[in-house]
Amino acid sequence: MSTSLLCHGFGIRGYRYVKTAYEAGRVTFTLRQERGDLRCAACGSRHVVRRGFQSRCFRSLPIGSRSVQIALDVPRVGCADCGEVRQVPVDFADERRTYTHAFERYVLGLSHYMTIRDVAEHLGVGWDLVKGIDT
Ligand SMILES: [Zn+2]
Repeated sequence: MSTSLLCHGFGIRGYRYVKTAYEAGRVTFTLRQERGDLRCAACGSRHVVRRGFQSRCFRSLPIGSRSVQIALDVPRVGCADCGEVRQVPVDFADERRTYTHAFERYVLGLSHYMTIRDVAEHLGVGWDLVKGIDT
C-alpha cells in the first residue's frame, strides 16, 4: 500500500501507512498519525501533550467484494492552551462516525440506484447505518 493509493483510492491523506492484514474476507489497513500532526480538537492548538490513545476502526471503500477497514490508534491529547483533554480530530471521518468520508460518498452514490436494504447487503453493514447516511 502506498501513500498515493491511500490518498487517491481511499481519500486518506496525512497518515503514515503501517501494515495490511487479511482476515475473514476483510482487508485492514493500519495507519498511524505522526506526532508533529497532533492538534487540539477543541481549539486547533498544536501545543498539546499526548495522553494515551483510543484504538478505532473505520469502514472504508470495499475492494471488490472484500470489505476494507482502517485501523488507527487515535491519540488523546491534553491542550496547553484551552485545557481540554480529547481525542485529536480524524481528518477522514466525521466525529463519532465509524466510516470514512469516502465510504459515506460511496453509500450516497449507490443509494441513487439501489434500495437502502440492497446497499446494506452489498456492503455488509447494518440497514440503520445506510439509512443514517442517506438522510
Ligand atoms: Zn485546545
